[in-house]
Amino acid sequence: MSAFALEPKERAWCEELRTLAADTLRPLAERGEPGRINRPLIEALGELGLLGRLFDSGSLDLCLMRESLAYACTEAETALALQGLGAHPVHAHGSPGQRARWLPEVTAGRAVAAFALSEPGAGSDAAALSLAAEPDGAAGWRLTGEKSWISNAPQADFYTVFARTTPDAGARGVTAFLVPADRAGLTGGALEMLSPHPIGTLSFDAVPVTRVDLLGEPDRGFRVAMGTLNLFRPSVGAFAVGMAQAALDATLAYTRERRAFGGLLKDLQSVAHQVAELATRTEAARLLVYAAAAAYDRGESDVPRRAAMAKLLATETAQQVVDAAVQLHGARALQRGHLLEHLYREVRAPRIYEGATEVQRTIIAKELYA
Ligand SMILES: Cc1cc2nc3c(=O)[nH]c(=O)nc-3n(C[C@H](O)[C@H](O)[C@H](O)COP(=O)(O)OP(=O)(O)OC[C@H]3O[C@@H](n4cnc5c(N)ncnc54)[C@H](O)[C@@H]3O)c2cc1C
Repeated sequence: MSAFALEPKERAWCEELRTLAADTLRPLAERGEPGRINRPLIEALGELGLLGRLFDSGSLDLCLMRESLAYACTEAETALALQGLGAHPVHAHGSPGQRARWLPEVTAGRAVAAFALSEPGAGSDAAALSLAAEPDGAAGWRLTGEKSWISNAPQADFYTVFARTTPDAGARGVTAFLVPADRAGLTGGALEMLSPHPIGTLSFDAVPVTRVDLLGEPDRGFRVAMGTLNLFRPSVGAFAVGMAQAALDATLAYTRERRAFGGLLKDLQSVAHQVAELATRTEAARLLVYAAAAAYDRGESDVPRRAAMAKLLATETAQQVVDAAVQLHGARALQRGHLLEHLYREVRAPRIYEGATEVQRTIIAKELYA
């Protein structure tokens, strides 16, 4: 594909995914409990082969899946993305034993993964993390400390945990471990967020880990974290584009039918021009996302800049589009259960996680001045 147009078979696949999301996944999402892991939904993603594609295809495929699922079922989109985020380190850095134990279960949707990097004292500045991995005998460590805002915690089946093996060494003293949820000393609690999302805290009370649990080499875990986030960054933008497109299409449908002052809303030039502007911005964000994903898949050197630009523009644009869509729908958009009420809550968090907007600007500027 070029950076500017999808192939016909890619467009057909997106159409198929939107239909699956609306007809098969949305009913499962609606039967889920807000803020809890929806296992039937994750198993359906496995049965449809979508979780398997997380690990055997590239960044563009990931973006097309996230955009298309987000268009019709944000819960399915998020469940898919979180399986990828939590299990990608196992796919990319796990031992043969770890991969054989967990990846078939993750892709079938029977095991739920989570990515545990953030802490109460280390969010944007992830290299400042302090969860301590203290030596325990010749081949092991004990993990002690807290993680916070970990999606799928505390109900996930295993966690990719980033811990400090070397004090005062910043990013160079962090190690990644695969920690099964039933490990002694590991507990957690749920957090309630603006959007219904399974998320919580984790407490580590001298949790034992050994070399068998390592993901990659000791003190090289920050690379594991950043490699995963680099792959996922353009796809957060794709999630945002899917939401923006859903808000835009709802607005087109509404303003085409709604009568006011003796005519249709769409015939008011200020309405039509605003919709034109929203559509243009959404398309610009989509193209930046596809270009970043295609650059990642070609292994190009400017991926950090492109991925940061894509995430920045798409998440900020989606916020503007959803807000304008609410305005153009009037009161009904704010009624509990309306698509736009749902999107208005969903669209906020991606501007903060996986590198807040300001952090993306810092990355872009650093690349420009390099
Ligand atoms: C819904 C949701 C799901 C999440 N899921 C996960 C997960 O699965 N795993 C995980 O590890 N974490 C997860 N997080 C946590 C997320 O990664 C952090 O919230 C994020 O890294 C920001 O950290 P913080 O919230 O501590 O904000 P802080 O680091 O305290 O930053 C606060 C604000 O300060 C500003 N700021 C920060 N740094 C800079 C800078 N360099 N320049 C200019 N301004 C700056 C930004 O406006 C930023 O939003 C999730 C968060 C949310 C909201």
